[in-house]
Amino acid sequence: MKKIRTRYAPSPTGFMHIGNLRSAIFEYLIAKHDDGDFILRIEDTDQTRKVDGAVEFIYKTCELCGLKFDEGPNNPGLYGPYTQSERLDIYSKYAHELVEKGKAYYCFCSEERLQDLRHQAELEKRAFLYDGYCKNLTKEEIANKIKNGEKYVIRQKMPKEGISSYEDVVFGNISVENKILEDQILLKSDGFPTYNFANVVDDHLMAITHVARGNEYLMSTPKYNLLYDAFGWERPVYIHLPMVLGEDGQKLSKRNGDASFMDLYNDGYLPEGIVNYLALLGWSSSDNVEIFTLEELAKIFDPKRISKSPAIYDVKKLNWVNAHYIKKLPIEKLCEITIPHLKDAYNIEDKSTEWLNHLVKLYQKHISYGKEIVSLVSLFFNDDIVIEGEAKEFMESDASIETVLKVFEEEIKNIDNWNLDNITLAINNTKDKANVKGKLLYMPIRIKVSGQMHGPELPDTIYLLGKDVVLNRLQK
Ligand code: GLU
Repeated sequence: MKKIRTRYAPSPTGFMHIGNLRSAIFEYLIAKHDDGDFILRIEDTDQTRKVDGAVEFIYKTCELCGLKFDEGPNNPGLYGPYTQSERLDIYSKYAHELVEKGKAYYCFCSEERLQDLRHQAELEKRAFLYDGYCKNLTKEEIANKIKNGEKYVIRQKMPKEGISSYEDVVFGNISVENKILEDQILLKSDGFPTYNFANVVDDHLMAITHVARGNEYLMSTPKYNLLYDAFGWERPVYIHLPMVLGEDGQKLSKRNGDASFMDLYNDGYLPEGIVNYLALLGWSSSDNVEIFTLEELAKIFDPKRISKSPAIYDVKKLNWVNAHYIKKLPIEKLCEITIPHLKDAYNIEDKSTEWLNHLVKLYQKHISYGKEIVSLVSLFFNDDIVIEGEAKEFMESDASIETVLKVFEEEIKNIDNWNLDNITLAINNTKDKANVKGKLLYMPIRIKVSGQMHGPELPDTIYLLGKDVVLNRLQK
């Protein structure tokens, strides 16, 4: 069997967003499932949309996610160059070869003429298709125009009858009537290819066996297949990926939750968690397991299990998946993704490293990403504890509560050596002396010192607040 080769082919137009990264992950998994090669190709033919630094971001993101390229601009293999703007002579050669074969033609139509055609189509309320005006120019006419320096594009000659179809791994049989296919531009007058041409030439020359990409290309793929056929090249396997929508069912955008990988990473999400979650965006395992490392995913990934229906980007699910990885994180790593956020939000100058580490550890089970710790720990940094709502109701619900708090205050006052053991002892003494247990013991203390009904271990919370703060709050 031929070695499987897939490619991630981003246009360097900005940060890597959820949808792009999901494509890269699927492309990687398809290759690695069969020990194949995963290639990076930079599609920068639209120079107007190019963003400085975008290629570096692609590399950085993929590296953090563990998506290693077997070939790409930085580690060229046998099929370079891997950046489209460095391949212009290749596209030109192949476009002219198609003209020779009678499958493409020079078109000299001016922008004004094309505008008129578009305008006419609009008036007649039909889709604009180039009318093939230049298709029948004679060899002499063409030679003369070129000699006169007239600018031209090269267009693909589409069949006007019949149907073109192919089998997509995800979407099944896709058929289009040839008469709706436009004689699309392959090579522009500035010598740059269109995506429509470059993707075919490159996928063929780079020996790509499986083309996995967003389903916005599903319906134009018949046009690409006609190019493969015109050259006499073997068509690749196509795996079009379902769209990723926001929770509101609309196209993913900043407004409905889209984030770039770097946004998530900077908020203290873990690359392993992000990758794991994105692998579930439109794909599921046969036994419904949902937590996987990249290696485990590669072992079991089956593109036949990719769903046709749009995937919904669900932040709650992302948080759930990421929390699995947060729970397993060594404390030093957890500190790396939380403390910078604490520093931004609070004044932590007087806190020792030991205190900060203890705080972070205490909340490990409670956060799903690094920055989330900020909202949970405000009780350690703000002194205006407000007891309201359900907590207030609870505090007024039983006559024993006042006693518990009085006894506990005395116990705390008597602690000379402020440590966890002595704090636990103070709680236990309160239990005996006030003769209460369970919720009636813990809840009043927790609410009084933290303002909250739920939180991490009570002795640790009390310890980290410090004796003065705890007494202060008990006496309020
Ligand atoms: N450069 C294209 C894009 O970013 C890639 C499409 C493909 O994978 O063929 O949408």
